[in-house]
Amino acid sequence: GLIMFSEVITEIVETRKALELRNKELQSIFDAFPDLLFHLDKKGTYLDFKAGMQKTFMPPELFLGKTIPEIMPPETAEFQMALLRKCIESGEIVREEYSLPGKEGLDHFEVRFLPINENEAVAVVRDMNPLARQRIELKETIQQLKRTNLDLEQFAYVASHDMREPLRMIGSFSDLLGARYGDKLDKNGKAYLEYIRKGAEKLDILTRQLLEFSMADKKEVIREEMELRHLIESNLEILVPFLNERRAKIEFDPLPKKITCNAIQMGMVFQNLITNGIKFNTSQNPTIIISGEETKNETLLRFKDNGIGIPEAASEKVFKVFRRLHNHDEYGGTGIGLALCKKIIESHGGKIYFESEVGKGSTFYISVTKQN
Ligand code: ADP
Repeated sequence: GLIMFSEVITEIVETRKALELRNKELQSIFDAFPDLLFHLDKKGTYLDFKAGMQKTFMPPELFLGKTIPEIMPPETAEFQMALLRKCIESGEIVREEYSLPGKEGLDHFEVRFLPINENEAVAVVRDMNPLARQRIELKETIQQLKRTNLDLEQFAYVASHDMREPLRMIGSFSDLLGARYGDKLDKNGKAYLEYIRKGAEKLDILTRQLLEFSMADKKEVIREEMELRHLIESNLEILVPFLNERRAKIEFDPLPKKITCNAIQMGMVFQNLITNGIKFNTSQNPTIIISGEETKNETLLRFKDNGIGIPEAASEKVFKVFRRLHNHDEYGGTGIGLALCKKIIESHGGKIYFESEVGKGSTFYISVTKQN
């Protein structure tokens, strides 16, 4: 009997030890807890609490034994009591965010009521101030970015639009100067005039592309389903002199029959991709193979060239406006083409990217959604 008794005692002692350990474990979890826990009865009386990293808003002796309506401002008390009732009646967790006047304006919290039984529940209160502050900051940053973006786009639009008139004057008067007074100019004078004309020509391309770029996602663009091959070929016509000069070939592999797009904008994409494939190309026979296919939702196109290729490190850079990998003496250009393509393709709900091997060539991929 004595042995049995001492066995029971040992068991009790061990159970108590295990419980103490468990309590300690729980306490350390609570200590690291960012939330405040309140044990409440269904009348809203604060029976007990646990505060980890966060302090209670008032000393415990001021709220323990009191009810929510006695502690909280009337409005907050009303919704918390309603939540508490709902939680106990439904036996489900309920949650709500609320604010209380604090030292520096409103303090934001989230409360979750967890039912224990028909008479009691636990309220978990979380300080939402850091999150609320982050949300406000994020909102402000987004607003600011939107404003800056708008300013920049308006600036690009106004600058490129308003520059075109004086530019036309420079071009036409230097033409006139050459035609009327060309024979009065010596060799140097003629060369200078040619520089003016070339400069005006370059600036003309730059301002036109910049204008297109700033307008690309502004206009209410109408998209229609159209014959893809016809759209590509009609855009090739304007490139014929350039293609002939470079002895370039454009080949077609199987292509989807149709594409849903804005013809003018997609035409610009095709012209840019084709021109780039031929321009950045040192082969005797620059060639571009255009192919593609349809999936359920998208039309995919590939423009494969045998050009100089693009280093992998530059894969982000080339789609940024004014970014170029070469200087003007090597290859002419403005650095707007691919940025414009990206803007257009993305406004068509698609993607543009490339694969490339330096010295072998590049393949540009575009996808366009089929929906209008
Ligand atoms: P641009 O052609 O006016 O220089 P883009 O925006 O069209 O400007 O292209 C940006 C840069 O990306 C080019 O300057 C060139 O260095 C590189 N690039 C574009 N397309 C190709 C290509 N098919 N092959 C090799 N390099 C290319």
